[in-house]
Amino acid sequence: MTLKDNAHQLVREHLKMDRDGKTHKVPALLEELRRAVTPGHAGSAGGGMTGPPIPINPNALDLLAEIEGEARRDHYEITSTGWQSTLEELLQAFAEMDLSAEWDAYLTHVSRDWIDKITALLWPSKPRRKLVGKTCPACGWATYGEERKVCLSLGCWDDEGNMRAIGTWDIECASCEASWAGEQVAYLLRALDTPGIKVVSEVAQVS
Ligand SMILES: [Zn+2]
Repeated sequence: MTLKDNAHQLVREHLKMDRDGKTHKVPALLEELRRAVTPGHAGSAGGGMTGPPIPINPNALDLLAEIEGEARRDHYEITSTGWQSTLEELLQAFAEMDLSAEWDAYLTHVSRDWIDKITALLWPSKPRRKLVGKTCPACGWATYGEERKVCLSLGCWDDEGNMRAIGTWDIECASCEASWAGEQVAYLLRALDTPGIKVVSEVAQVS
C-alpha cells in the first residue's frame, strides 16, 4: 500500500473487499472515527437541548488527537509552516506532495498504523476459538506451559467480527507453531472429531 492508498482509505469513501470476495462501499475511516467520538450524535438530531449529555468515547477522541497531532507535526517538519486547514485535507496534501524517499516511507508506515489503530478500535477482532481437549497432530500435545494453555485454536472471524467462509479458516498450534489453512482445516477438524458443521453451530452460539 502506498501513501496515496492509505490517505484514500482515511479520507475518502472507498471500496473494501471482505474475505468472501464481495466488495462494498464504506465511509472514510476518519469519518467513522469522528462519528465514534460522539456515538449518540446522529440519533439526537431534532431532539432539542434537553436530555442527557452525549457520551464521548475517550479512546476514539485520543486516537483522533494522536493522528491529528502527528500529522501536523510532520507537516511542520517537512515544510516549516503550520498547516492551516483540516486533518483530512492535510492527509490528501501529503499524498500529493513531492516528498523525499525517507518521508514517503515514514508517512506510508505511519498512515498504515493509523488505519490499523482505527480498525482495531472500531471493530475489535474476536478472539480465536480454542479447540479445547484436542491434540495437536504435529507436537502431540493438547495443552502447554505451566498454565496448561490450549494448544490448538481456530481462526474463523474477519476483521469486523463476522464469520469467514469455512474454506478460509485456519488452525494454529500455540505450542509448536504448526498451522493449517484452506482445505487442510476441514480435514484436520474431521480428524480431531470436530466436524466443521459442528464448529459452525457452536461458534454461532458463542458469538
Ligand atoms: Zn503443536
